[in-house]
Amino acid sequence: PVDMADRNPVIVVVGAGVAGLAAAKKLKEYGFNDVTVLEASEKVGGRVATATLGTACVDTGAQYIHGTSEENPVYCLLKKSGLLNQIPEMGEETFYSNKGHKVDVNIARDAYGAGESMIRYRGSNTGKSLGEHYAEKTQGVIDSVQDDDKRTRMQSVFALVGKDMLIDIGASDLHRISLDSWQYYINMGDSLNIPGYDSLMFQLVDKLLEDFPKDRLLLKREVSKIKWDGSFSVAPALCQYPVCIVCENGEEILADHVIVTISLGCLKAQASSLFIPSLPTEKMEVIEKLCFGNIAKIFLEYEEAFWESDVGTISLIYEDDIPASVSTNKMQWLKNMQYFSVLRPKERLMLYQTIVTFSVIIKKIIVISSSSSSIVIIAVNGAKSLGSQHPNKDLQVLFAGEATMKTLYGTVQGALLSGHREADRLAAHYKKTVAPTSTTSVEKQV
Ligand SMILES: Cc1cc2nc3c(=O)[nH]c(=O)nc-3n(C[C@H](O)[C@H](O)[C@H](O)COP(=O)(O)OP(=O)(O)OC[C@H]3O[C@@H](n4cnc5c(N)ncnc54)[C@H](O)[C@@H]3O)c2cc1C
Repeated sequence: PVDMADRNPVIVVVGAGVAGLAAAKKLKEYGFNDVTVLEASEKVGGRVATATLGTACVDTGAQYIHGTSEENPVYCLLKKSGLLNQIPEMGEETFYSNKGHKVDVNIARDAYGAGESMIRYRGSNTGKSLGEHYAEKTQGVIDSVQDDDKRTRMQSVFALVGKDMLIDIGASDLHRISLDSWQYYINMGDSLNIPGYDSLMFQLVDKLLEDFPKDRLLLKREVSKIKWDGSFSVAPALCQYPVCIVCENGEEILADHVIVTISLGCLKAQASSLFIPSLPTEKMEVIEKLCFGNIAKIFLEYEEAFWESDVGTISLIYEDDIPASVSTNKMQWLKNMQYFSVLRPKERLMLYQTIVTFSVIIKKIIVISSSSSSIVIIAVNGAKSLGSQHPNKDLQVLFAGEATMKTLYGTVQGALLSGHREADRLAAHYKKTVAPTSTTSVEKQV
């Protein structure tokens, strides 16, 4: 029998987002040299994306490094490449009340810090929602404050913390998020905003692509069918390949393994027709039950800045907001525009909003451009791979992508590590021992 370590399997990666590109890069590092990436759109990067706004390049997808610690491979990669040396100064944090006055930054920050420590609580098995927990905890603090003004300010800042949290996790209601799910999420440290003309986040995509052969990256190749478990007839000589990947343009590729990295939203829409035979019921249930949130990112451009020159962020505090009411109520959409980030040059502002109907409203009132997309808010172990019992036909369909990371969903590092995880899985299968340096301990936990 052929030694597994001597085999040169054909591997296809579906999707050229961070997960797909990270998987492809790592497979190459392991010495697999028959790797092809198929991407539906005409661009690489997926949800790490840019657009031109006037003369500037803006990030329409990821822009924050969620976690500036050595634990975070995205941070490490960008830092090692020297890319983080160019980050522009972020400027001052400011808070304004909806009553028209500026709120003392120290007071706002203190209340914000207190709110954050309550909302980021990591309990386990309480059975409560994050909203319920947060309302209870903040009420305790609010009730202990005697001064009316101070109490109002405190509860409105606590509400701001709740709204910022909705944006962080791409959710629309804190009451629909399980408090228990927090115990799984890995906090890799403070977030770092890395906007700029050269889109630093997109340079991560370039880094992942650096050594990958360009002729093995096929754009505008939407995969329409994945026939696995030998569910197709081919010439006997080709029978060794158990997977057949069919593209929308009719092209067919035979492979030993396919790593599917398409987003949860696409999977929800496509899974029932994409796989032949259908995915096992257990897998389909996972895809159906997982949820994803909506985030709109809006860029506003002004001829002249109306904010002071040292301002980096503007947070709006609505004095009639209370923590218990935090949700993206459609009737109060304006109140969910609470966080503006100043982009360079200073005439630009960016704001996030988590509201489903926003794209309709946007056309009426917003000046420049918008990008909306989805991120996963809850993930379970959806990464289990598929294969038949035959030892050489194992691991036919593998799944990667941020949604498959129970501990890091909704982040670029989650996507990256999910790609590494599946490359490692194939390397272990083929007993490839030369492990690349980029592996971290986090991916082993998933
Ligand atoms: C607006 C927004 C802001 C965000 N901000 C941040 C942030 O600041 N920091 C952070 O860490 N994370 C952020 N995220 C999350 C982060 O961008 C994602 O977690 C990550 O980029 C997902 O990568 P992925 O490879 O898993 O999926 P994707 O990037 O979605 O890649 C999947 C790829 O598969 C392709 N595809 C789909 N169907 C098919 C098919 N049938 N055939 C072939 N190809 C197909 C898609 O075109 C896509 O290129 C943000 C996300 C959004 C939407």
